[in-house]
Amino acid sequence: MKFNPDNKNDVDLLVDTIDAQIEDASIEMFEDGHRDHLGASLIGDSCSRKLWYLFRWVKPAKFDSATRTQGQVLRLFNRGHREEPAIIKLLEKSGHRFLPVPEGQDQHRITLKCNGHFGGSLDAVGYLPEIFNFDDQVLYEFKTAGETQFRRLKKAGVKADKPLHWAQMCVYGKDKGIHHGLYLCVNKNTDEIYIEFLVLDWNLAETMEMKAEAIIEADEAPAKIAMSASHFVCKWCNFKDVCHYDEPVDVNCRSCKHSKAVENSQWKCKLADQVIPKDVVKLGCELHEGI
Ligand code: SF4
Ligand code: SF4
Repeated sequence: MKFNPDNKNDVDLLVDTIDAQIEDASIEMFEDGHRDHLGASLIGDSCSRKLWYLFRWVKPAKFDSATRTQGQVLRLFNRGHREEPAIIKLLEKSGHRFLPVPEGQDQHRITLKCNGHFGGSLDAVGYLPEIFNFDDQVLYEFKTAGETQFRRLKKAGVKADKPLHWAQMCVYGKDKGIHHGLYLCVNKNTDEIYIEFLVLDWNLAETMEMKAEAIIEADEAPAKIAMSASHFVCKWCNFKDVCHYDEPVDVNCRSCKHSKAVENSQWKCKLADQVIPKDVVKLGCELHEGI
């Protein structure tokens, strides 16, 4: 078929095809499946049960909704990453000095904790401009937000409005021995930037590490935060059907009641009494029993 720009059907088909191709490309580029470790970026979530389900790979993350395709949501998530180099450039121009990413790594990472099952990566570490005469290292965290979220953040501040971001910064800070953080959030609608200087709370970081350890060690799901699926938090939870309606879990070793997270980021099968090879963890076996 030769594309005819004067034919409406051809033009409609062209637009639909490009849209579908971008959707496929977005999924291929940005969908990275289950995470191996429990991430510090989520540890501040109010529901430990949700984090446990996530860690135990009970079902893949669901990104699409009635109004958004999976590719669109993945692009939205990626938007934040695209913003980072631009903010860093602006800050450098203003005199901030950033440490290079450690050799062999693509990001600044924290030391894996809880037998290698709890980790995370941070946006940047650096120093304030010399005019502030402040020699301590500062942890930088860059975020983006839509108009409504941005207004809420401006009004309430990071600790109150973004407890997950606050918790992750504290965990990173404690790991890197850094006491101060600079949080910058770009309004995706207007490009306004919200900036907050934070004194990081290492006690909170310790509490979060203990929370992570409890989730990683748990053989059974932590308590629900609400008994009804219509609760305002559960309503939007990816695990609502598993949690409230006993939906069967996906089959893999991490969602099996015979598995256990062990040292060196590995998983052990309690039935076979041996460490499970990484490629088998993804598949499970015929003896799988859902957690
Ligand atoms: S449905 Fe509710 S209780 Fe269950 S994991 Fe999700 S947020 Fe937690
Ligand atoms: S090997 Fe089979 S029984 Fe063992 S943890 Fe994996 S799925 Fe479960």
